[in-house]
Amino acid sequence: PAANAHDFPLLIKSLLSSGMRFQPDNEIVYSDVLRYDYRTLYKRVCKLANVLTKAGVKAGDTVAVMDWDSHRYLESYFAVPMIGAVLHHVNIRLSVDQVGYTMNHAEDNLVLVHDDFTVIAEQLADQLPSVRGYIRLSDDQKTSPTSLNSLGEYEALLAEASDEYDFPDFDENSVATLFYTTGTTGNPKGVYFSHRQLVLHTLNGASMLGSFEGQPLLRSDDVYMPMTPMFHVHAWGVPYIATMLGVKQVYPGRYEPNKLLRLFRKEGVTFSHGVPTVLQMILNCDETEATDMSRWKLLTGGSAATPALAKQMVDKGIALFTAYGMSETCPLISAVFLKPAERELELSEQIPQRIKAGVPIGLVDLKIVDPEGNDVAHDGDAVGEIVVRSPWLTQGYYKDEAKGEELWENGWLHTGDVASINEDYVIQIKDRIKDVIKTGGEWISSLELENLISQYPAVSEVAVIGVPDEKWGERPYALVVGKPGEEIDGAAIQQHLLTFVASGHINKWAVPQDIKIVTDIPKTSVGKINKKVIRTQVS
Ligand code: ADP
Repeated sequence: PAANAHDFPLLIKSLLSSGMRFQPDNEIVYSDVLRYDYRTLYKRVCKLANVLTKAGVKAGDTVAVMDWDSHRYLESYFAVPMIGAVLHHVNIRLSVDQVGYTMNHAEDNLVLVHDDFTVIAEQLADQLPSVRGYIRLSDDQKTSPTSLNSLGEYEALLAEASDEYDFPDFDENSVATLFYTTGTTGNPKGVYFSHRQLVLHTLNGASMLGSFEGQPLLRSDDVYMPMTPMFHVHAWGVPYIATMLGVKQVYPGRYEPNKLLRLFRKEGVTFSHGVPTVLQMILNCDETEATDMSRWKLLTGGSAATPALAKQMVDKGIALFTAYGMSETCPLISAVFLKPAERELELSEQIPQRIKAGVPIGLVDLKIVDPEGNDVAHDGDAVGEIVVRSPWLTQGYYKDEAKGEELWENGWLHTGDVASINEDYVIQIKDRIKDVIKTGGEWISSLELENLISQYPAVSEVAVIGVPDEKWGERPYALVVGKPGEEIDGAAIQQHLLTFVASGHINKWAVPQDIKIVTDIPKTSVGKINKKVIRTQVS
């Protein structure tokens, strides 16, 4: 209970009712499988809470979800934390071993598992002593035979449960969600967020998305479909925001570009978010030509969008915006807000501004520091590591105090990103510290090189890494995927880069001697370019 009657705890349950009051008839849509309205959402969250309680889940227990983006996932976003339990979003794209590692580390007690992942769950079951049972998820209510300790099928269990639940008040600092980072070396690290943090992130995210210049990204009459999976940083927190506003929400299941675009057309989607590589896949798929995207507002982030990709989007009539953040930051910490004069420019001329990392949003303190921790000037030129403070950052790494202390050195969360900040507080990310190429005493930004290479017309995708070199320390090395049906070779790309040397844009030694033409670039579990894997392949 709250410490005194005037304290109103910031709990996730407070985000669930307003949407139903604003727009009770708006729908939650799951692919081509199911649709229902906001009143039903509320009842189904109550039903799920009853099912979980009956299964023995108590406050402080951990409930894992292994599912594609679905109405079930949305219901879990609410029901699990609302009964005081912790929702572990399992990254189902990790290797089986890593999935097992995260579930063991999180000490999951109950697992909601989609039929597509039953085999993985069965493989891992023996190694997960804390798991007491499994609830099966499937789209047609038919589940395959299993050796798992199954408590039943989700829809069947919900059908039998009461649609009322008296959700308790408790300490707003209780942990609500837990998930694991993907990009770094070694084992995945757990990050966790409290009710209070998620509520503040939701309120702030709603005001940010609603106040983009002249074109709010998410308002009550928008239709939302995520393209960043729900297991990845709460789909950037947008499902909570959309639910609070009562926005129509469309969950696409497993991501397949053509299917996403068919659903997009059918449901009249107006707002989505995604990492650049996923957006690139969408723009290259068969259904793209037949799809009118001129009402689509797209928020990108998670890695830098290249000017070439941004141009492709603008040419399709898409309104493109950028946000910056990471798993450790819940994730939103900055977003692009254009100045009135910039808004006057032709859309294609706005691109350089639209793909920067933007300015810090409300309740976020952000600056750049040198390796000794001293502040670096905000002159648009000097670079340093981005460090940040805000109410919704992970307070550490789950059960790993030493790494958590490193993350929070000097009381600021260290992002590992190198950036400049200009007088208007616009952040320009140069690179991740671990991706910067150090050659002959100079630093080369892998991002900058990728941008320049992507401007060569026949290039579809590019990744640049530093490879060890006896003389120079490191040298840049590029992997390039050509556009279908177009001739491409490394020498022509080098020529293209030499024009930027001539114009003084880059130094001569930034031009990679090694440019490898490939058909595919390795991606991480969330579809970003995986430099860690590229490095091991090259060395
Ligand atoms: P990972 O990619 O390591 O699995 P995250 O999803 O947390 O984990 O990625 C966060 C990182 O993505 C940031 O530290 C930053 O390097 C990069 N990033 C996020 N947003 C942007 C952006 N708008 N522009 C450039 N880089 C970005």
